[in-house]
Amino acid sequence: MTTSTFRTNGTSSKTTGLPVAVIGAGPVGLAAAAHLLARGETPLVLEAGPAVGASIRQWGHVRFFSPWKYTVDAASVALLEPTGWTLLDPEGAPSGTDIVQNYLEPLAALPQIAPHIRLGARVTAIARRGHDKMKTPGRQDAPFVLRIQCPDGTEEQVFAKAVIDASGTWTRPNPLGADGLPAFGEAAAAERIFYGIPDVLGRDRARYAGKRVVVVGSGHSAFNALLELATLADQAPGTEIIWAVRRAQVGQLFGGEENDALPERGRLGTRTRVLVDSGVVRYTSLRIAEVRRTDLGLVLVGEDGEMLGPIDEIVCATGFRPDLALTRELRLNLDAAVEAPSALAPLIDPNVHSCGSVPPHGADELKHPEPDFYTVGMKSYGRAPTFLLLTGYEQVRSVVAAIAGDWESARNVELVLPETGVCSTSNSSGESAACCGTTAAVVLPVFNTRDAQLLPVLGAASLSSAALAPNRTGLITVPLVTPSATNSCCCAVEQTACCEPAGKTSCCGSEAVLTSSGCGCR
Ligand SMILES: Cc1cc2nc3c(=O)[nH]c(=O)nc-3n(C[C@H](O)[C@H](O)[C@H](O)COP(=O)(O)OP(=O)(O)OC[C@H]3O[C@@H](n4cnc5c(N)ncnc54)[C@H](O)[C@@H]3O)c2cc1C
Repeated sequence: MTTSTFRTNGTSSKTTGLPVAVIGAGPVGLAAAAHLLARGETPLVLEAGPAVGASIRQWGHVRFFSPWKYTVDAASVALLEPTGWTLLDPEGAPSGTDIVQNYLEPLAALPQIAPHIRLGARVTAIARRGHDKMKTPGRQDAPFVLRIQCPDGTEEQVFAKAVIDASGTWTRPNPLGADGLPAFGEAAAAERIFYGIPDVLGRDRARYAGKRVVVVGSGHSAFNALLELATLADQAPGTEIIWAVRRAQVGQLFGGEENDALPERGRLGTRTRVLVDSGVVRYTSLRIAEVRRTDLGLVLVGEDGEMLGPIDEIVCATGFRPDLALTRELRLNLDAAVEAPSALAPLIDPNVHSCGSVPPHGADELKHPEPDFYTVGMKSYGRAPTFLLLTGYEQVRSVVAAIAGDWESARNVELVLPETGVCSTSNSSGESAACCGTTAAVVLPVFNTRDAQLLPVLGAASLSSAALAPNRTGLITVPLVTPSATNSCCCAVEQTACCEPAGKTSCCGSEAVLTSSGCGCR
């Protein structure tokens, strides 16, 4: 039962003497605390979990694609180094557990930082004291009030002069449904669906060994899950891996590969392509509408009625979205699609820009009509997938400078991010040309499931197409494709500066038209 306690850290209606609240003790939240201390401000870090890095601990078995040198924040390192702490292997890539144990825990334990962290403090709502969203007079001078839920179910509130929301998006995974809503039957099948990246070779091994598993999603989390499942399949006979992605066009499905400025990130895509090419992972395009239970297992039903299954387990790696309920009483200016601050959204919107080369940005781009409230870190990107810690560290440096009144420093943002080597834009703007790199990503032939002859899920299957791959029950219905690795020139959508002239005709075929930019097919 929830009981409410009107316990606060201040009684003044003014902000003098109040701390700056930081929501979340992940890498970006703790970096914000370090920057606030460097500016003479008092942080109050409110962390929902029982320990710092609570979200990263849930994917501790996953290796970062960034090396250590891109994983730590300068102000935090400045606090750590006098204690004898050193950066482990700057060029090596840490796992999530490495980051927690060798960076976040030592940082949080520092005598300068530790007294300012409150664990088990879940922020459920933020408002301006005495001002609902509609009320304007005196609003900007009113302290923020943050409602907190404690592990024993009690509620309390704290006041703050400013708020930095670094609560990430890990706790809000996207659902399976292609339209962004949970698929029909998704909730009922919850015990067979894992959201995120399961620890297939460790904690969750028994759940997946010898099972028929579908991984849904096309980002780096899906690559990680597929790669671990493939290792398991080597060790546990009978493990079957199917990869279902929403998009019908699979150009650049594997990311920038060797063009990626972060080699480990590029290699994730290359290693996944090898698994698909070799048939270890079977690939299909499916826009999921329903998760159906049958006597033989789960069946995924597509929007047009096509079916995939039966299967035992689903790994949902379809990305994440921000928790906007938290800020319902604040005046925010968020992009309607990306759910990131409106000035930042066009720089990261995957519909128009996927290169990862996000221009430097800071307090100016992150600010809202609500003064002194900022969203930073993973959550600042809303639904966009390409966030890097380096971005978050520069964000908090700038935001803290702004909160401290040093707008000159806040506006002096400098950040060069490693490019993904991918440009998914479908227009031929100068921006896309500048970020595409020089070599096209591999294009896979994709089987059009709409044209496929579909079979009843429960019934005698008579396969009439070679593309239909029966599983051991003979009841699979959506065609699974083992793509050819030889068709490797340019993307099936229009791109600029992305492919070799000699490759265009064979890429686009005689039916298709080369685009006006001379690259890609239409
Ligand atoms: C599998 C994976 C691999 C990644 N690899 C890389 C990589 O190689 N390189 C890179 O630069 N980035 C990578 N990222 C992206 C990003 O850097 C990480 O997600 C990073 O953890 C984001 O840090 P953050 O502090 O913004 O959020 P998080 O680490 O998610 O921390 C948010 C914190 O807020 C807490 N919290 C949540 N809600 C509340 C609430 N209501 N009240 C109080 N506390 C709350 C959580 O418990 C958590 O501790 C990866 C992400 C994932 C998921």
